[in-house]
Amino acid sequence: MTSELHTFDTLLVANRGEIACRVMRTARRMGLKTVAVYSDADATARHVREADEAVRIGPATTRESYLNVEAVIKAARRTGTGAIHPGYGFLSENGNFVKALEQAGITFVGPPASAIAAMGDKSAAKARMANAGVPLVPGYHGNDQSDELLRTEADSIGYPVMLKASAGGGGKGMRVVESGSAFQAALEGCRRESLAAFSDNRMLIEKYLVQPRHVEVQVFCDYHGNGVYLFERDCSVQRRHQKVIEEAPAPGMTPALRTAMGEAAVRAAKEIGYVGAGTVEFLLDADGSFYFMEMNTRLQVEHPVTEMITGQDLVEWQLRVAMGEPLPCTQDELTISGHSFEARIYAEDPDQDFLPATGLLTRFALDLEGAGLNSDHVRLDSGVDSGDTVSMHYDPMLAKLIVHGSDRQAALATLNRALAALDVQGVVTNRAFLQKLANHPAFKNVELDTRFIERNEATLFAPRTYRLEAYASAALIGLHQLAQECESDSPWDRHDGFRVNAPHTIRIALCDPDSAQAAANDEAVVTVEGKRNSGDAHWNLTIGSETFTASLQPLTGDAVAVTLDGHRRRLQARRDGHVVVMTEPSGETRLFWRRIDAIDHGHHEAESTLTAPMHGTVVTLLVEPGVTVEKGMPLMVMEAMKMEHTMTAPVDGSVDTFHFQAGDTVNQGDVLLDFSPSE
Ligand code: ADP
Repeated sequence: MTSELHTFDTLLVANRGEIACRVMRTARRMGLKTVAVYSDADATARHVREADEAVRIGPATTRESYLNVEAVIKAARRTGTGAIHPGYGFLSENGNFVKALEQAGITFVGPPASAIAAMGDKSAAKARMANAGVPLVPGYHGNDQSDELLRTEADSIGYPVMLKASAGGGGKGMRVVESGSAFQAALEGCRRESLAAFSDNRMLIEKYLVQPRHVEVQVFCDYHGNGVYLFERDCSVQRRHQKVIEEAPAPGMTPALRTAMGEAAVRAAKEIGYVGAGTVEFLLDADGSFYFMEMNTRLQVEHPVTEMITGQDLVEWQLRVAMGEPLPCTQDELTISGHSFEARIYAEDPDQDFLPATGLLTRFALDLEGAGLNSDHVRLDSGVDSGDTVSMHYDPMLAKLIVHGSDRQAALATLNRALAALDVQGVVTNRAFLQKLANHPAFKNVELDTRFIERNEATLFAPRTYRLEAYASAALIGLHQLAQECESDSPWDRHDGFRVNAPHTIRIALCDPDSAQAAANDEAVVTVEGKRNSGDAHWNLTIGSETFTASLQPLTGDAVAVTLDGHRRRLQARRDGHVVVMTEPSGETRLFWRRIDAIDHGHHEAESTLTAPMHGTVVTLLVEPGVTVEKGMPLMVMEAMKMEHTMTAPVDGSVDTFHFQAGDTVNQGDVLLDFSPSE
């Protein structure tokens, strides 16, 4: 084929989210016009905002929009599109789509339909791979599907075995069988599942590897018969067969193993007449044996870690190959530099069994400078910006955080810093879970296999424990945030509250946000005693029998420095309702923050009125007018910025009149009630 046949100057990306944005970034750099497609749910999404042109292709449901072949082709025609990049998922491995594009005379940035079909059926793919001399997990993938034969095959492979739907994918129709006696029931279950999911109940059987690593090889082929491998990625850290953190190169690879796996992967691709970017997935056993698992005939989610260590732009390679050019590099010209990690940022709640989360992302930003990070080493591939809404219609992956370092240790340190510097507000994400993973000693020690998360569940999902320093910092930060929100009437600046050189005491109760409604004895109480000398604020914090001298210094953005007994630490601090959230490279700490003292309102000479300390709402009135109360008894509760403040009796006496009712809005300084001191 000649390159003229493939030339195009407009690229449509038939996808959404981070991958659509990422593909368009390279297309723009290469001087191509970019076209986005969108569903009704995505009319104002980031990929639409970033494209030169965008075309609506249907309602929110993917079947009617992003999976709608006709609508995508129509959009391509309307915009004079010469080529379509499918991203991953959606239509990327759909042979009918590829054929439809061929008929429409539009270039598909991906492999020929025949190559997709060859890898679509697991049994058929394995048979071809065996022919090409690619090692397979010992097993059976034949046509005879009788119960007796399958059982005999399983027995001779030796238990445990894995039953897999030949037509399967996405972890469906897959079961581990521990012994011969469990085989028949598992077979029947698997067949039912497979029939329901794929309208096909053919099974294959494999030896079940007990502690394999998932190591995959990036391959690339062009229309001129060239094929190379761009080394490997380790994607062993998975949750329910879904990758969570990926890295390149795979730790512990020997040059010989790398060459053997790379060459096997290129053989696999050539066997099926592959063109473009593909990934050959292998299981790597503890003894260094590797086995073909499947080939993904598209660009992978985790391709950036390969880009980081090779310095190549894989989307550029894809586009050049699609234009009919030869591969940009030969095998000998490709080298590995340093180490890279990718962490997938999902809108999901790890504490609620990873339930997908939705809502308004009030903030989504990465402050590299503030975290002392260099943009050469950190890349955020994001499909969202601050102000975007995360809907329930699509995959909850928001972005990918990708880092590079001179070696694994350096890259991991950068990953931890970058995760801490990522500021996400409004929607729950797995960020804290990623931090726990990335800080986990077993992960640092490269104790990797596909059951990593399962095996370390006890520590990854342990009930939270907090150090005293965390309570102390959170107490101080909560007060600081309150002060900022209430500005002039802050507990720090109130002349009557913290009088110069006069001690003042505030008590803060802190607890795990998930047990905020639980018994008060789970709380830690921090007593904050303030003393304001000339300008600088120093506090004594007491928790139980421990006392710290403490100070807080606001830095840029959300960053603050907290000094406890002379130990200064910088952290990102923000508030999520009543919860103080502190992020550091070592992880995220969330503490439910509650002020349990009375705000000292004894600042009116006559003590005959109480005024509102801030703008807010009246939550409830707690006493009847005329009833005698003792000094310190709660009279009414106000709320400001989602935090409650209790107004208490300044001295013994009684309330004459309340000037507001529950639900009323009050301005700072409003007289809330009239009070008569007794005697
Ligand atoms: P799917 O196509 O449904 O994703 P795969 O065949 O790719 O299924 O397997 C998914 C995951 O299941 C792998 O990443 C690996 O963790 C595990 N797995 C698959 N085959 C085996 C096996 N023979 N032994 C152990 N684990 C396996």
